Amino acid sequence: MSGLRPSGYNLFTMKVADLGEFGVIERLTDLIRLRRGQGIDAFDYKLLIGAGDDAAAWRGSDVTELVTTDTMVEGVHFTRATTPWRDLGWKVMAANVSDIAAMGGLPLYALVTLGLPPDFDVDDVDKLYAGMLDMTEEYRFSVVGGDMVRSPVVFITIGLTGATDGVLMRRSDAEAGDQVAVTGYLGSSAGGLKIILGELEAERKAVESLGEAHRRPRPDLHQGRILATEGVKAAIDVSDGLVDDLSKLCRASRVSARIQAHQVPVDPTLRRTFPQCYQDLALTGGEDYALIFTAPQETMKRVLPQLPTPATVVGDILDGEPGEVSTVDATGKDVTPAIGGWDHYR
Ligand SMILES: [Mg+2]
Repeated sequence: MSGLRPSGYNLFTMKVADLGEFGVIERLTDLIRLRRGQGIDAFDYKLLIGAGDDAAAWRGSDVTELVTTDTMVEGVHFTRATTPWRDLGWKVMAANVSDIAAMGGLPLYALVTLGLPPDFDVDDVDKLYAGMLDMTEEYRFSVVGGDMVRSPVVFITIGLTGATDGVLMRRSDAEAGDQVAVTGYLGSSAGGLKIILGELEAERKAVESLGEAHRRPRPDLHQGRILATEGVKAAIDVSDGLVDDLSKLCRASRVSARIQAHQVPVDPTLRRTFPQCYQDLALTGGEDYALIFTAPQETMKRVLPQLPTPATVVGDILDGEPGEVSTVDATGKDVTPAIGGWDHYR
């Protein structure tokens, strides 16, 4: 590790401007080399040139390739007060991996562009990268390059490639008569954020488990692979909230949906901590990075028991106003969630 710490600098006060663009990039290239992901040979891909050259290079394979991108901007998607740098690195990577999971693929190569103010601590750049590399190690893919620019606020843009040897899951392939299901629990990330923001006193267990759900969301990559392999054709990941993301899927498929609000799976800790609004959090809270998928009942019956973690049927796809998602309670009465979904321009 000594190569990462140029002598003569105090690590804790060194700023990005002190080290300069090339110094920082060289340092990050070393960090990447130390913690290269294991999955770079998925589907017989071969990485020929990783971070450190003019461009990354790899030899492909006879599969379907995927690419996605996601950006997080300080003051828009996160604040320094509520998101530690290492968690932020994990989260921005998670958002991209989750998009690959929603297509039924595996992640391969990531490009990372950082916008940093000149007075940003180099130590914090390391933390940000550590969070991203935590995810590449765990989900087995690689950062193969990137860029760094001066910016008045911190932003991170990640481009991520992926691949699949199977059928893609699309937003546009839901059909009236399908059931709607979700992986895991919903609302935990939004509940965790409320706790982190100090909106209520929570018991220690809730602080830990819901806080973890918000700080370190885990994309359902393995689940996505199984769904696609087993014939599920339509899926989307939950980044902006169940109602919101299901509405996007419905719009793309020219159908509507009805959610049975009481069937939406909620962590018992969330229910206990937010007895008044746990259901609203589950319906509209974002950043859970679970998967929403739709399939005919027979397919659902076959697929659900094969998943390594529970998934739950929460509603139905209907003919109707494209994109419309209604939520009803156990008696069939309409329940409108109190909190709206996330919209970047609202
Ligand atoms: Mg998505």
